[in-house]
Amino acid sequence: MVQSLSQMNYLLGAPFDGTACFRPGARFGPQAIRFWSDVLDTYSRPFDADLEDVKLADGGDLGIHSADWEGASGRIYQEVDEIVGGGAAPIILGGEHLVTLPAVQACVSHFPDLVVLQMDAHMDLRDQYEGLKLSHATVMKRVMETVGPDSLLQYGVRSGTRDEWALSDEKGTLVDEIGRVEEIVGGRPVYLSVDLDVLDPSVMPETGAPEPGGMTYRELHEALITLRGINIVGGDVVESCPMPGWGGPSGAVAAKVVRELIFLCSEGR
Ligand code: MN
Ligand code: MN
Repeated sequence: MVQSLSQMNYLLGAPFDGTACFRPGARFGPQAIRFWSDVLDTYSRPFDADLEDVKLADGGDLGIHSADWEGASGRIYQEVDEIVGGGAAPIILGGEHLVTLPAVQACVSHFPDLVVLQMDAHMDLRDQYEGLKLSHATVMKRVMETVGPDSLLQYGVRSGTRDEWALSDEKGTLVDEIGRVEEIVGGRPVYLSVDLDVLDPSVMPETGAPEPGGMTYRELHEALITLRGINIVGGDVVESCPMPGWGGPSGAVAAKVVRELIFLCSEGR
């Protein structure tokens, strides 16, 4: 790490898709996001901010293997721990959703009162999936165990098992109005995890588990803008699963979400 991390926004690719159950390929998400980011302007009108004016570093993609979750999670934890320890905001490019877990574990060691805000089509609250306790389908159950049930908020969810819905109802994790997040979290530090399948498959077809009935890009963008003023200390954009090669224009959608997350993190701290 070459310069002071203080107030830096630190991009890190986590090309892992070892528990993908339908379409694998999220390991190619980070490279597709970087490729398609070239099509975007660096300036964001709603944020009135320019990537050229924010402190931004790109740590590249971690050299992790999708057959080795233990090794991969250790690397993600270690890197995020160093990034946050240095005063920077980690912005993880997935990879499948399981990569959120070690990132949150590292963040919570620095921010004990961390809130995780998950935007997702799916609950990801199963206790086990296909025999695995650690899976993209169980990741938010593990996150809930890490931060506590009062510190997980979910937005955009439209699919889950009966048990997952019951758990969410019991713990009150679902937020219907994005504007309520600020009331709930106040000044607490927030980790924002965006599973791109929160978008409708017509907007984001290149994802691991497309789920009909999702939001438009504009609706997601409005939601992100509504989160301004919240203390966002890091986050991730996961489940970009590009078609072979550089993927299609879903990559531009993913890259734009990353751009706005950078601005949210810049404003948040
Ligand atoms: Mn999902
Ligand atoms: Mn997910």
